[in-house]
Amino acid sequence: MSAEKTIPATLIPGDGIGPEIMDAVTEILDAVGAPFAWDKQLAGMAAVDATGNPLPPQTIDSIRRTGLALKSPLTTPVGGGFKSINVTLRQEFGLYANLRPTRTFVPGARFDKIDLVLVRENLEGYYAAMESYIPVGDDPHGIATGAGYNSRAECNRIVRFAFEYAVKHGRKKVTLVHKANILKLLTGLFLEEGRKVAKEYEGRVECNERIVDACAMQLVIDPWQYDVIVTTNLFGDILSDLTAGLVGGLGMAPGANIGEKAAVFEAVHGSAPDIAGKDLANPLALLLAANMMLEHIGRADLSTRIESGIRAVITKPELLTRDLGGKSGTREFTAALKQHL
Ligand code: NAD
Repeated sequence: MSAEKTIPATLIPGDGIGPEIMDAVTEILDAVGAPFAWDKQLAGMAAVDATGNPLPPQTIDSIRRTGLALKSPLTTPVGGGFKSINVTLRQEFGLYANLRPTRTFVPGARFDKIDLVLVRENLEGYYAAMESYIPVGDDPHGIATGAGYNSRAECNRIVRFAFEYAVKHGRKKVTLVHKANILKLLTGLFLEEGRKVAKEYEGRVECNERIVDACAMQLVIDPWQYDVIVTTNLFGDILSDLTAGLVGGLGMAPGANIGEKAAVFEAVHGSAPDIAGKDLANPLALLLAANMMLEHIGRADLSTRIESGIRAVITKPELLTRDLGGKSGTREFTAALKQHL
């Protein structure tokens, strides 16, 4: 189908399984007439090989221009003093909100009918990683320390983001997840700001609170009680892998990093070097991320069409990729999905 490509967007094919799943995803996007005009850019090992830099300035410039990126997984170069590409992107573009929806797609998944969204603060908390050693006797690393920080402004902004998301997507409840009983200042400030923001939405969106450890247990026992969860950086990182595990693992988990200057959409999984180049990768996590990107630009009509296709093809287990118990390769699965759009 030919369609006008009017929305400039940066495309990062990544490495490992990245290029294979990106090919599959762009094929599906083309099939439904998605309006992205791609500006293809390098990052990760592909960029190290070509330029010696895992995040070349051209890639940053492109995202600055488009404000929108679809990014395949990137292998983190080991050693060499490279700073994490994901952290650099978050800081460069102030990508303060990490949005990770979890929904059941696979029939017979251990937990059926799950539909929740986790909003993770992406810039502060313990991931500010202010770490150091204190020598003890002869051991220069006798004690390791780590500090984090949460600012009132950022706590307010992330909880507001969660409530606004709830309003926009017709969701009923936001749960503030914290550990303010122990980390009384660090996560107490988050809870304090969270309660303030919740008051502004009273009557429109319900709000409750959970201590993070109790939340982890309840997510396993009764995940259906959750609608939107909002929490600080470290807790959000851990809980969002837990929620991905509820619905079939990382192959089904998309994520969006949203800021004021840009939004970057990606699969939660990594570059899977063990299966790279073998036509075995499941492209669904990246495709679901592309769907979030379509919704972000106001084209929910197209994401709904892709989602219906996914739901139709997923009822035929033999057509799925091997990680989901099927027999198809990446290309065969993509062709089958195209037939169900
Ligand atoms: P991984 O997610 O790449 O792989 C974990 C396991 O899941 C592997 O067995 C892999 O084969 C499987 N898997 C992952 N995605 C799959 C898919 N789409 N289809 C089928 N199977 C899939 O995690 P890892 O091995 O710990 O990391 C590999 C590299 O990726 C590392 O360099 C890591 O730093 C990087 N990484 C990047 C990102 C990112 O770019 N956002 C995220 C996580 C890890």
